[in-house]
Amino acid sequence: MNTGSPKRAIVIGAGLGGVGAAAALAAKGWQVTVFEKNAHVGGKLNLLQQDGFSFDLGPSILTMPQVFEQLFARAGKRFADYVELQSPRPHWRNFFEDGTVVNLYPSAAETVAHTECLGPQDERDLERFLAYSRSLYTACEPSYFTLGLDSVWEMVRHHGGIASLRSFDLMASMDTGVGRHVRHRHLREVLDFFVKYVGSSAFDAPAVLNLLAHVQSAFGLWYVKGGLYRLALALSQLLSDLGVDVRLECEVAEMLRQDGRIAGVRLADGSRHEADVVVSNMEVVPAHRRLLGESERELRRFRRFEPACSGLVLHLGVDREYPHLAHHNFFFSGNPREHFRSVFHKKQLPEDPTIYLVAPVRSDATQAPPGCENLKILPHIPHVQDPPFSAEQYHALKERVLDKLERMGLEGLRQHIVTEQMWVPEDIERLYHSNRGAIYGVVADRWKNLGFKAPKHSDRFENLWFVGGSVNPGGGMPTSLLSGLQAADRIMARPSD
Ligand SMILES: Cc1cc2nc3c(=O)[nH]c(=O)nc-3n(C[C@H](O)[C@H](O)[C@H](O)COP(=O)(O)OP(=O)(O)OC[C@H]3O[C@@H](n4cnc5c(N)ncnc54)[C@H](O)[C@@H]3O)c2cc1C
Repeated sequence: MNTGSPKRAIVIGAGLGGVGAAAALAAKGWQVTVFEKNAHVGGKLNLLQQDGFSFDLGPSILTMPQVFEQLFARAGKRFADYVELQSPRPHWRNFFEDGTVVNLYPSAAETVAHTECLGPQDERDLERFLAYSRSLYTACEPSYFTLGLDSVWEMVRHHGGIASLRSFDLMASMDTGVGRHVRHRHLREVLDFFVKYVGSSAFDAPAVLNLLAHVQSAFGLWYVKGGLYRLALALSQLLSDLGVDVRLECEVAEMLRQDGRIAGVRLADGSRHEADVVVSNMEVVPAHRRLLGESERELRRFRRFEPACSGLVLHLGVDREYPHLAHHNFFFSGNPREHFRSVFHKKQLPEDPTIYLVAPVRSDATQAPPGCENLKILPHIPHVQDPPFSAEQYHALKERVLDKLERMGLEGLRQHIVTEQMWVPEDIERLYHSNRGAIYGVVADRWKNLGFKAPKHSDRFENLWFVGGSVNPGGGMPTSLLSGLQAADRIMARPSD
């Protein structure tokens, strides 16, 4: 045990949650070492440069920039000095099989003004929906986002009784919440797809997640000039500015137990490192299985924290432009309910998936050679299954995706591909050690977990904490980062021993 100061923390993994915890602790004088198995800081924020094209491998949308500002402010820095943000318009362009296009803007008025098929009634509906979405965010903000409460019981205690949770609309589904406010079928399908930010189904996720529409409309949807990977570089610089000892290509193989505490870690090279506190950005289930050696029987207590969906991630460099695309596009399934059912219930590769397509050249010409586009194409698909999908099944899905995109306006797509790369859930699992290749941590499902992810504090070791997509508030980039800041605050608030 370290008796002098400063206190020592080991952080396992340099994803958003790990960086948040490491920076917040270091800013308060802790001596922090980060062990990251890969060769870069940022975790799923990753980059592929191939044949003159630059592909952001992971996230493409930054929301809640205030969380990043808060991170840098804790270190006495300004986020704006590290990255330049741009806000693409529309936020999303949504294509439907019947030829309808819905352009989603931050406000109802702009959305309707830029969308042929919508009229005054839809504008009123959307305004009512956004007010409902704001009320959900306002209800959750003080407890879930600011204090980082971890369970429905903590929320009940904080808000003063079960009745006070009515404002969270917890027992309805997202889809039901949308349907209560909006009549237009395609507009409803677009609003249901805010569930993409947590990799879940709009028919299973609790309606409280309709707050995601307010998050995007009020705090904006952002692109980092030069590519999202610039954010990873900024985070790496911040850790260096704070004196954090970041060891890349160092995989943690075991957490070392001693007297009911975690005494430190053993790396894959056999070296041992001690700490007062250990923070794991490795997800909760893989960390308990691989680093703590828990049996499948012991792991059953995490059963309700099922992994969120994964994705078939296609990166295409094409030698032409598709000017009708916006920066962020969705090509909707002809039957979105069936799409969700395939991915989340039947656990099958969807026949007709809803596809997210990013065309960053709309905002940033540096991402592809002149006259070309780099396209990131992402249908959500089930996490790694037993038995796994075969290479042929993944390939057949890729062909269905390309067929659909060609049918819905990307003429001659196949013949214009000059470079490509494809990732399947097994690649994501291997690269980041995420639970079964999930890309957004834990699924939000009102029957399984009411939308709560795993708690940040270990249920067995007083000095072990978890951060990132598998714990609250988890999910996407800002919430993973927030989990790291919240864990650091709780670590520092505990009486020292
Ligand atoms: C294709 C894709 C698209 C996405 N799109 C968006 C988007 O547009 N917007 C958004 O907000 N989010 C998006 N996300 C989700 C977002 O990337 C994640 O929610 C977020 O980055 C997760 O952060 P995290 O803290 O959980 O860490 P992770 O990114 O999961 O990083 C964990 C790190 O820990 C390391 N690690 C694990 N085990 C060990 C070990 N034993 N030893 C050492 N190191 C270890 C891993 O190598 C990794 O670097 C997307 C994700 C993917 C994959």
